Amino acid sequence: MARYTGSVCRICRREGQKLFLKGDRCYTDKCAVSRRAYAPGQHGQGRRKLSEYGTQLREKQKVRRAYGILEGQFRHYFELANKKEGVTGENLLTILESRLDNVVYKLGLAVSRPEARQLVSHAHFTVNGKKVNIPSYMVKAGDVIAVREKSRNSAKFESILASTESRIVPKWLDMNRDTMEGRVVALAEREDIDLPIEEHLIVELYSK
Ligand code: SF4
Repeated sequence: MARYTGSVCRICRREGQKLFLKGDRCYTDKCAVSRRAYAPGQHGQGRRKLSEYGTQLREKQKVRRAYGILEGQFRHYFELANKKEGVTGENLLTILESRLDNVVYKLGLAVSRPEARQLVSHAHFTVNGKKVNIPSYMVKAGDVIAVREKSRNSAKFESILASTESRIVPKWLDMNRDTMEGRVVALAEREDIDLPIEEHLIVELYSK
């Protein structure tokens, strides 16, 4: 399946929730969800009663799109989560949060997950001192994520740091904005995840 390249605000409107895919704009009253709180398209304002399957599918799509993951990889993450000890839905969220692009976003080194994905792909970061350009790279507790030396003084990162100045870094991460280095204190747990997600619906969907 190809990666979606259309308007990301349509995705939020489709899911009826802010997924914060656009950076600064998401926090202003220009946000499309605030201005048009209905699904896009000709029938977007019509009443819709979702079936049980439809509700589960929408939840899965919402999470998949929030993290910018294609269907095949999302299913792979689910299978990994299912094999791990513990609660499958919570394992799945921990795996999603551990992606390098998500960690970069949460550290405030990108304004949105899509931007974090692009910056990682363009090799602006190191993990434990080694260049990593794979957005799906899974971080571990103790890993140090840093902006590469040659990128540190760029106008791009100056502007990102200005935009994310008030961002609260979650407690499972530690960030030093002066050195542009962050550390994974521990992997994210369920209570660390701020998106409203009903992960049990995704587990039910994939368990059919
Ligand atoms: Fe979603 Fe941000 Fe667009 Fe609002 S501005 S609809 S939160 S991507």
